Amino acid sequence: MLKVAIVGSGPAGFYVAEHLLKQTEVPVRVDMFDRLPTPFGLVRFGVAPDHPKIKSVTRVFDKIAKNPLFRFYGNVEVGKHVTLSELKQHYDQICFATGAQTDRQMGIPGEDLPRSHAATEFVAWYNGHPDFCDCQFDLTAERVAVVGVGNVAVDVARILSKTPDELAKTDIAEHALEALRHSKVREVYMLGRRGPAQAAFTNPEVRELGELEGADICVRPEEVTLDPASQAELDASDDDTPKKKVSILQEFSKQPRAGKKRLLTLRFLVSPTELVAGPDGGVRAMRLARNELYSENGKLQSRATGVIEELPVDLVFRSVGYRGVPIDGLPFDQRSGVIPNDAGRVVDPATGEPIPGLYVSGWIKRGPSGVIGTNKKDGTETATSMLEDAVAASAATLGLTDPSVVDALVRGRQPECVTYADWARLDAIEMSLGESHGRPRVKLTTRAAVREALTKG
Ligand code: NAP
Repeated sequence: MLKVAIVGSGPAGFYVAEHLLKQTEVPVRVDMFDRLPTPFGLVRFGVAPDHPKIKSVTRVFDKIAKNPLFRFYGNVEVGKHVTLSELKQHYDQICFATGAQTDRQMGIPGEDLPRSHAATEFVAWYNGHPDFCDCQFDLTAERVAVVGVGNVAVDVARILSKTPDELAKTDIAEHALEALRHSKVREVYMLGRRGPAQAAFTNPEVRELGELEGADICVRPEEVTLDPASQAELDASDDDTPKKKVSILQEFSKQPRAGKKRLLTLRFLVSPTELVAGPDGGVRAMRLARNELYSENGKLQSRATGVIEELPVDLVFRSVGYRGVPIDGLPFDQRSGVIPNDAGRVVDPATGEPIPGLYVSGWIKRGPSGVIGTNKKDGTETATSMLEDAVAASAATLGLTDPSVVDALVRGRQPECVTYADWARLDAIEMSLGESHGRPRVKLTTRAAVREALTKG
């Protein structure tokens, strides 16, 4: 029996488990660990609350978890409650699917001023992540800038622009709903450093921004008129997606304002160069460099033209991408923020050889890109490597440790570990709380609330 530990219970981890458990050639047991008490990673703490369909992927994960050869240990942190060397003693293979747990920096003066935040923190806060419940965002601010034009920036801009009634129909964390009810935000800017054809957001996501109940959309026609290089790139491409993206944005630029309470403005070809402090020490404005595009290694990049403008904003969310963090005992590529690997096999950078028994999947393997479904192919690739290695290994290396040994070890170290059966109870509690509030779910957002719910139930 191949014994596998998966660290991280987001889609990257679950898709590895799925592939391992559905094949029949190699008998496998899978134990999944997560430092948080609840499973699903960014499906629970990243996907926007007003996008419930995306979250329905958890039904697939529930099915995987029903397999008797699968166990979930939530609230158990590898490196704290159990060490990597202990995992190595009890498992033949360990797969890290820990995602990209921090944010990228812009590297400009004033980036760390009060009222300048990583968008990832805001996302974790409104999604009820237990480590971010106590974050404070000054929503008395009237003008907010979201730097970046990826899908996370779209989520943040949309949540800031939605009405409390719209938000109340979602599973947004109660503390965030309450804070956003009192929001004074009137204007939201999304800032792209390149042009509309290079924007990272996907078409359905940006289209939604033109249909908001409480906010008009504003795009400057001159910023979505393509430069010759972008036009040539689109003309030469067989892919219609960027062409559609540009045409959605050009339509926005013609959309008359309907006098809604808020205004959401999408800007292109501008880069923040400095955040300016006001008398209270917090952000008062942002200096923006006007950009032009130039071609470098076959890619259109931005560079400053020398024209600077000042945008008065008093709250800033930096949404310029996530970044992986190193894991004790594993190599790490600082430049790309991932664990060096070959088809999911962790590779020693000094020798270029795989390190036996160690694997990666998801964002810590390939970087923070793609949608949830991207992890299925990615997880399948890693699981295939794991199975190939298991077949190649002699039977002697695949020992017969009694599964109750790990169970006793984990429970000894973390008596408050959360099993999948516990999660099923929490899930039912959250849904029933939601029902009584006319909402799809009311999340238990602190470790104490989870503990209390499990003890009571
Ligand atoms: P992303 O898609 O990589 O977008 C990052 C954005 O930040 C880009 O517009 C990038 O511009 C910009 N940027 C980077 N460095 C910058 C700088 N120094 N100054 C100004 N702008 C800068 O990242 P993300 O939005 O965090 O999303 C991560 C992944 O999750 C993506 O694959 C996304 O599609 C996915 N996601 C999907 C959904 C959904 O499906 N609804 C929702 C959320 C997230 P350049 O292009 O010029 O580098």
